[in-house]
Amino acid sequence: MTGWVRIAGLGPGDDALVTPDVQAAIAEATDIVGYIPYVRRIAPRDGLRLHESDNRVEIDRAKHALEMAEAGRRVVVVSSGDPGVFAMASAVFEALEAGPKTWRDLDIAVLPGITAMLAAAARAGAPLGHDFCAINLSDNLKPFALIEKRLRLAAEADFAMAFYNPRSASRPEGFARTLEILRECCEPERLILFARAVSTPEEALHVVPLADATPEMADMRTVVIVGSSATRQIARNGSPLIYTPRSVPA
Ligand code: SAH
Repeated sequence: MTGWVRIAGLGPGDDALVTPDVQAAIAEATDIVGYIPYVRRIAPRDGLRLHESDNRVEIDRAKHALEMAEAGRRVVVVSSGDPGVFAMASAVFEALEAGPKTWRDLDIAVLPGITAMLAAAARAGAPLGHDFCAINLSDNLKPFALIEKRLRLAAEADFAMAFYNPRSASRPEGFARTLEILRECCEPERLILFARAVSTPEEALHVVPLADATPEMADMRTVVIVGSSATRQIARNGSPLIYTPRSVPA
């Protein structure tokens, strides 16, 4: 039996947003590896082993996947959204680089998925229609001083910004600090989208000016999109509609 590893993105939640490529890999897999809530999105079937693990053991999980592939298993490592965006693809390659040389001959591929900021942007209009950046606000894997530096420089460069992992119970003050920094760098009218649980039954979208944004508007299931100075809202009934124009006048 020839083993392989596929590092796959399950998209933001809705099964209709899982690519056919990812569905095919899951259908051929013998093993699924990932963080508990993501593995639970895979339908159990005979011959498929589900390996759930905690959030904080990414490298162990990656090693386990590579070991199983070397033993001939067909392993899908699952992430939500896209596996290359603040997720398992980098962890697998970190383990690969540090591991036995034989792992480098394994059949490994990354299968992209729809990342949260793109799903959220699509729901709200086109806030990322001009230049933008993505920042992970979790300081689990980097110092907050670096987050602060990137926030200030991105605001100065007038990027739209997408924030992942904006706020958790273990770091409630981080997002409050982020809003303070934005208030120092941006005008109070700057539009902010709070997009929670996009493409799931709990989906909720809110657009507010920076002046009205509060830390409680975000949680770990929220992706936050801060517009650029050009991002505007089209007034209408129903869900919010915001976009960033394609051009900036010379
Ligand atoms: N690899 C994932 C991101 C993992 S980090 C991706 O590409 O989307 C986890 C963060 O992603 C969450 O804290 C949240 O900010 C965001 N996120 C993931 N799914 C989401 C969804 N359905 N709606 C809104 N935000 C989501």
